[in-house]
Amino acid sequence: MPTEVVMPSHGPTAQATPKGNPTIKKGVSYDIAVIGAGVGGYVAAIRAAQMGARILVIEKDKLGGTCLNRGCIPTKSFLSDVKPLYRIRSSSLYEGKEKLTINVEKMIARKNKVVEIMTKGVASLFKSNEIHWIQGIATFVDPKTVEVLTNGKKDTYRANNIIIATGSRVGTIPSLSIDGKSLLSSDDILDIQKIPKDMIIIGGGVIGIEFATIFNALGTEVTILEMLPTIISTEDDEVIRGLKIILEKQGVKILTDTRVTGASPTKNRVIVNIQDYSGKEEQLTAETVLMAVGRVPYTEKLGTEKIGLQVEGQFIKANARMETNVDGVYAIGDVIGKTMLAHAASAEGIVAAENIMGKSREIDYRKIPSCIYTFPEVASVGLTEREAGECGMDIQVGMFPYLYSGKAMAIGEPEGFVKIIGERELGEIVGVHILGEHATELIGECLLAMHLEATVEDLGEVVKGHPTLSETIMEAALDWSNRSIHLLRKG
Ligand code: FAD
Ligand code: NAD
Repeated sequence: MPTEVVMPSHGPTAQATPKGNPTIKKGVSYDIAVIGAGVGGYVAAIRAAQMGARILVIEKDKLGGTCLNRGCIPTKSFLSDVKPLYRIRSSSLYEGKEKLTINVEKMIARKNKVVEIMTKGVASLFKSNEIHWIQGIATFVDPKTVEVLTNGKKDTYRANNIIIATGSRVGTIPSLSIDGKSLLSSDDILDIQKIPKDMIIIGGGVIGIEFATIFNALGTEVTILEMLPTIISTEDDEVIRGLKIILEKQGVKILTDTRVTGASPTKNRVIVNIQDYSGKEEQLTAETVLMAVGRVPYTEKLGTEKIGLQVEGQFIKANARMETNVDGVYAIGDVIGKTMLAHAASAEGIVAAENIMGKSREIDYRKIPSCIYTFPEVASVGLTEREAGECGMDIQVGMFPYLYSGKAMAIGEPEGFVKIIGERELGEIVGVHILGEHATELIGECLLAMHLEATVEDLGEVVKGHPTLSETIMEAALDWSNRSIHLLRKG
């Protein structure tokens, strides 16, 4: 097989390459080649390097992938910037707030700075772990060889194992084409120059409601159009109901059972065609439309067919060890579509790396949390109450509303609750669902409890600092056995 090797040639992200990036030497065969340097790929590369592997990472765009450049990090930078605006505008304490505005240019510049720091961090981590990386599009030649196209020049690289971590891209609906001007994708909207007066968001999934939260706080009239009967349909029913009420109270309009069938930009407005559950058609208009109907795996130019890689729909098929059907080829992250979340991609990356390096690991999706960054946040792990019922489990539920928490009241965040689902006899923690301020941080202790196979009762017996929001976890756990101190006695 050809083992031609070149010096790395870098394109637009050359500035992110630290000086002294290990030179790719002639004739080297790598232990592992990782295709894609998103949170799946770069984490897999670092873990394997820690275990002594010689690694090559190939990235066609910027280090950090979707999460760092176009996903988790930029959106959380925006959410953090608009939160004070939301708090002040929704409180009667502050005077003169009508004049309060946000400098959008500075908000975008801060986001860009955060992204730059984070992606440079990945480059530094590569350097300190002696990971080679090159910029270019990788295509399989055979299961141990990839061809890399960089600035019109092709080179081939060989590795004993290959990890596919090529992620996903924005999905669309067939009758609609994103123009990047008034009909935007989640990539386009990160550089929006002007806050629109009104916005339609197609899709009430996680991307839809996080951007609804951002733009509602910025003063845009937001309408979410969701074809299913509910928004964020995979969450627990009570969380879905609670969040919908909160978003509507904040001013977000939510139309469920509403399928978008097309959209066309006109001079000043975008016309959106909708159909309700009975088939009745209607048109709505908005200055800006955001497309948030899910993401599709990115396998373009990868040449999966050349090595006979099995796919499931559009996703690459991988087992719990992250192995594909082709020996020595692993797949992780959004491209396998099990759980399209950053931390899931990283966890899968670690499993793949450790298996290649001789350990025996399997991913456990039951303990991967879901975190949604609305005001207030949503976080969950394990089964919903409905799923537990469908599995025929004998469960008991403990609930504690934020309204009864001293800390939640003191900080002016009384909305939401903690819901803990436990197996009735032994108290195994089956699921935890939190709607409330800092939910995405609070879920951490529940994850640890589940990891250590603690029971619901154990969660209730931990003494918490006062006043803290984590007391709500303790109280919900105590409520599971009807022992909550701060709830009125039942029956
Ligand atoms: P990616 O991050 O997409 O990385 C894949 C990389 O592979 C890319 O850099 C791509 O350029 C490269 N690549 C593709 N093909 C090739 C090729 N042939 N050759 C070379 N390189 C290639 N998840 C969370 O957990 N929390 C959040 O808060 C969150 N917020 C999000 C917000 C938005 C707006 C979006 C869009 C997503 C968000 N996600 C969030 C999801 C998260 O970003 C993804 O689950 C995660 O990035 C997947 O990581 P990955 O490594 O599988 O793929
Ligand atoms: P999603 O699948 O979560 O939601 C898409 C929504 O669009 C669904 O509810 C679907 O029913 C709806 N939809 C599809 N076609 C429609 C149509 N024609 N008309 C009306 N509604 C329609 O996808 P997403 O929100 O685009 O997010 C993509 C991925 O990114 C998800 O896997 C998500 O987990 C991940 N993500 C995670 C976070 C986070 O963890 N905080 C944040 C953003 C994105």
